Amino acid sequence: MINLLSKELKKSLRVIKNFPNKGINFQDITSITDDPKLFLKVVNSMSTYAKKNNINKVIGIEARGFIFASAVAIKNQIAFVPIRKENKLPGKVFKKKYKLEYGYDEIQIHQNAIKSKDRILVIDDLIATGGTALAAASLIKKFKPKQINFFFIINLYNLKGLKEIKKKFSSKTLIDIEG
Ligand code: AMP
Repeated sequence: MINLLSKELKKSLRVIKNFPNKGINFQDITSITDDPKLFLKVVNSMSTYAKKNNINKVIGIEARGFIFASAVAIKNQIAFVPIRKENKLPGKVFKKKYKLEYGYDEIQIHQNAIKSKDRILVIDDLIATGGTALAAASLIKKFKPKQINFFFIINLYNLKGLKEIKKKFSSKTLIDIEG
C-alpha cells in the first residue's frame, strides 16, 4: 500500500526550482491537494497511523501541516491543535525560537492545548533540517504528554532532520527524496 502510494506521490509531486530562494527545490504539495483521490489516500494513511498509535490529539504545524492534520482530526474524531508562527494565537502561549538557514523563526502553542494524558501526533508536509519539528517537539514536551509521534509526507533525507527526530520519537514518512 505504502509503496504504491509512495510511487504515486513521487510521480505527482510538483517541484519548483529556485523557490523561494535560489538553490531551493520547492516541493509543492498543492499537486496532492489538487487531486482528491490522492489527497484522501494521504489522509487515510495518516489516519491509520494515528489509530494504530492510539493518538487522541493531532497537531498541525503552520501552515501546510494544518491542511492534513485537520483532515485527520475530523476523520478520526480526535482533537486538532495548531502550532502557529509568532503572534497569531490569542491566548497565553509557550514559545520556541529556532534557527533557519538565514536568521530565526518562532513557533507558539497555547498553554492549555495539551494534557499529560494525551497521545500526540504532529503532522507537517515535509521535514528538511528538522529545525521546525524539533522546535515543535520541545514545545510539546513541556506538557509531558504520554506519547509524541511525527508524520511527514516528504523527507528530504540528505538534510538529515528525520535522523534527529528518530533519535527520540517514532515517526513515519511517505516519500524520501533528495532536497
Ligand atoms: P526544516 O525545519 O528545515 O525541517 O523545514 C521544514 C519546514 O519548512 C516545513 O514546514 C516545510 O513546509 C518547509 N520546507 C523546508 N524545505 C522545503 C522545501 N524544499 N519545499 C517545501 N517546503 C519546505
